[in-house]
Amino acid sequence: MQSNEHGPIVILGTGGTIAGTAADPHDNVGYRAAQLGVADLVAAVPALARWPLETEQVAQLDSKDMDFGVWQLLAQRVAHHLARPEVRGVVVTHGTDTLEETAYFLHRLLAPAKPVVMVAAMRPASALRPDGPQNLLDAVTVAATPGARGVLAVLAGQVHSGLEVRKAHTYRLDAFGSGDAGPLGYVEEGRLRQLRDWPQGEPLGLACLPASPAGWPWVEIVSSHAGADGRWAAALAGLPVQGLVVVGTGNGTVHERLEAELVRAQARGVRVLRCSRCAEGVVVPTGRQALPSAGALTPWKARVELMLQLMAAG
Ligand code: ASP
Repeated sequence: MQSNEHGPIVILGTGGTIAGTAADPHDNVGYRAAQLGVADLVAAVPALARWPLETEQVAQLDSKDMDFGVWQLLAQRVAHHLARPEVRGVVVTHGTDTLEETAYFLHRLLAPAKPVVMVAAMRPASALRPDGPQNLLDAVTVAATPGARGVLAVLAGQVHSGLEVRKAHTYRLDAFGSGDAGPLGYVEEGRLRQLRDWPQGEPLGLACLPASPAGWPWVEIVSSHAGADGRWAAALAGLPVQGLVVVGTGNGTVHERLEAELVRAQARGVRVLRCSRCAEGVVVPTGRQALPSAGALTPWKARVELMLQLMAAG
């Protein structure tokens, strides 16, 4: 996949607050997401005219409602445009709520040699000071940066790897972080200041996705906490669930009653991954453990990882 330094950047729209509007410009929470088309978002930023851009509306939804059908279509459209030799990179406008899951999904599936930049906003387009226009300009700047590759996320002047990005605040404009890893870089005055390498990895490949989203594996998330009992895990494991991610306490520790049920589920063939509910840090290996750890992955990324592993294994 070579890219052309003068080729187009393709902007794929999926909705989110960046495309949201409210009747009252002071209303930053009562808006409706996914109201404006991606071409309108581009038209609102005259500075984008310095790059050749193409737009395509892949979906139009609040990302809290993201589903496998949209992921499958989005992955196909991203792969289609990346395979065009003249295309320099792809930008995906998205909601903030599940951006981290989509970013992880796309990177593990495609691990692209060109940039795929996810962008979102914490304020609707109708706000007194919407953050979407600057974020979109910064995202295109990163997509146009020579050598950029992998799935990235750009918000509030920060660039994150799609493998690590997560939403960390409910309301602030700089709502995203990368946990211990920290941002990959910053966009300042139209230039990328890069701190560490682009996200790497081998792509699992589009071919691992079943023909229909109905064929995706069922993977659920259960959590460990004071007073946990195993009945929820036992009930789930009695259903045709193929994977369970457990959100552990501290260093991925799991209440003994819940752990006993998860070990039983694992023995019956359900794949289990163990994470931590801590906002930062990784699950540090402690020798032999009954349940495998997801390392640095958040529970939501671990769920995507487990689904992809199950799909890749057929
Ligand atoms: N609920 C919105 C979404 O994820 C939130 C946002 O975009 O900030 O689409």
